Amino acid sequence: MSRLRCVGFFLIGILSGVACGHDKDAASDASTSQPIAAVVDSARLAGAEQEPGSWLSHGRTLSEQRFSPLDGIRADNVMLLQRRWVYDTGTTRGLEATPLVVDGVMYTTLTWSVVVALDARSGEVLWRYDPLVPRSVGEKACCDVVNRGVAVYAGRIYVGTLDGRLVALDAETGDPVWEVVTVDRSLNYTITGAPRIVAGKVVIGNGGAEFGVRGYVSAYDAASGELAWRTFTVPGDPSQPFESDAIKRAAETWTGEWWKVGGGGTVWDSMAYDPELGLLYVGTGNGSPWTRHHRSPGGGDNLYLSSILALDPDDGRVVWHYQTTPGETWDFTATQHIILADMEIGNEHRKVLMQAPKNGFFYVIDRENGEFISAKPYVTVSWASHVNAAGRPIEVDGQRFADGLTFVTPTFFGGHNWQPMSFNPITGLVYIPAQEILGAYRIDPNFKLSKRGYNLGTDLSVFAAFPPEAASGHLLAWDPVQQQEVWRVPQGLPWNGGTLTTAGNLVFQGTADGRFVAYRADDGRTLWVDHTETGVIAAPMTYEIEGTQYVAVMAGWGGAFGLIGGTAARGVAKGPGKLIVYAQPEDAPTPEEIEAYITRPGDVADGERLYHRWCARCHGAGAVSSSNVPDLREAVVRLGDKLPIVARIGLQGTGMPGFGDELSERDAVLIQRYLETRTD
Ligand code: CA
Repeated sequence: MSRLRCVGFFLIGILSGVACGHDKDAASDASTSQPIAAVVDSARLAGAEQEPGSWLSHGRTLSEQRFSPLDGIRADNVMLLQRRWVYDTGTTRGLEATPLVVDGVMYTTLTWSVVVALDARSGEVLWRYDPLVPRSVGEKACCDVVNRGVAVYAGRIYVGTLDGRLVALDAETGDPVWEVVTVDRSLNYTITGAPRIVAGKVVIGNGGAEFGVRGYVSAYDAASGELAWRTFTVPGDPSQPFESDAIKRAAETWTGEWWKVGGGGTVWDSMAYDPELGLLYVGTGNGSPWTRHHRSPGGGDNLYLSSILALDPDDGRVVWHYQTTPGETWDFTATQHIILADMEIGNEHRKVLMQAPKNGFFYVIDRENGEFISAKPYVTVSWASHVNAAGRPIEVDGQRFADGLTFVTPTFFGGHNWQPMSFNPITGLVYIPAQEILGAYRIDPNFKLSKRGYNLGTDLSVFAAFPPEAASGHLLAWDPVQQQEVWRVPQGLPWNGGTLTTAGNLVFQGTADGRFVAYRADDGRTLWVDHTETGVIAAPMTYEIEGTQYVAVMAGWGGAFGLIGGTAARGVAKGPGKLIVYAQPEDAPTPEEIEAYITRPGDVADGERLYHRWCARCHGAGAVSSSNVPDLREAVVRLGDKLPIVARIGLQGTGMPGFGDELSERDAVLIQRYLETRTD
């Protein structure tokens, strides 16, 4: 394909979502090349930093920073990025996986725990494995029939299935090598998280704390599938022997008969591993039921709910713990993404871990010993005034909703949920898919443990008619040393995708309203947008093959907010699921061509001119509304592809006339494109 034709296609591609570079020749080339079966050992996993072209484990490196040193795609050329290939997943529910790329092969998961291996250059399907999860298990999954990805080790691909199995597949063929059932299937356990490889073992947790289960994390021998260790996160029936001293100490912080209602504390997502310190970090979830009132009626901190646990990977022993929300009662899990980094804090070199859990505080913890360093609210927080110097939150009276309906922020969706954040060591910033969703809690006086349905202890009917204004999201750039915001991009809807940051001064993120966006990492400027036709919740990843850098993202709306968001989720994009892979045009344009593209009399510049000809008179110059007439920077986020229709038809009775005679459909889309560059 010629260079010029490709640039021309790119312009059409931006408008219609049609790929420019999808190239059948590349696919046929790939079928003649030999994909190498994932030969990954512990040394290669630990040295992932030296292998920027690959994405070997869930968060790229064991530190889970989701930072890529690749800089083929940069802030000064990202505007040329185009679709290289698209894999239609054939699914319609949530896609949450981060694909891995090892030796030219991409491995990812779809809904119902299906695994697929693709040629990472062409998108050609090499194999597909369906664990045939019984669809009746879907009822046990709080937050959609999702899966967040696989682990790769020693020629095998590991996946946790929704029905509680851990399966090892042959990396070359996709055939199962072994599988074990990791849960008591008579209870409401499910697996949605990605396994991690730690010291030759496959570590996997599970979910179910909305349904009366007791949390734990297990490690299996990677070669044989034999159980190596299992660590419970909350105490069981105290009339039985405690599994460990750590659990015995935890039991002293519980009251009543918690073991009869489950306890919770499930390890359903985040883990990170420091091979030098020999510590595996896992995040634990909320109480089961949510309400301490019903779970531990005499009070208590209820260890190790909502905690970060540092475990010895050889035996699963708890080395230290840090609890983010003592006496958890709001579904404030600490299962959110954990990032390990080394940084200068107060003139000291610290090995830290960072987390932005649901409770709204951003934590920096010393990962050697669990010592609290700092915590500051990264979103609006009503339940606690601050975290004191000892690392304990100081609660605000009345927020435990003992006196009836109570509004609390954040809510059970969290100031940030499972959507991974990323850390860029060049900018020193953490990029958080943050959200502001008003929470409302009311004790359910009729709570009784039930085999089916939620066991929350609160009454969800308070959300029956929540206005969209009660929920919003933004991309937040956070300085973890100063514990302060550096910039933000308002995004209208909450529940946007995880983030990827790169040495090209970029942050990539998908949105609930169906856009995939590249931002400048240092100042948050919007640089490039593609329309994905469905909301994106997964985190993007990047890789390089034969000198070409690719960016991949799973697009598929769903997850907890996707299912239950209701009136607060109006305006999300709902389309068929897909895996989209982007790259620069195959014939790299010259600097002159890039310059010509940037200064072209093209879409954004045309949109800007049209906006100021027809819209600015009421909506403000530069798309900044200086009156009570709606600000179109916000409206374009809410309306998405409906905005051009409104521009042409108008809104009857509001004073917004239709410009259908003056603006062609294409003109109206160009205005939309211009406004999208103004949302920062
Ligand atoms: Ca939960």
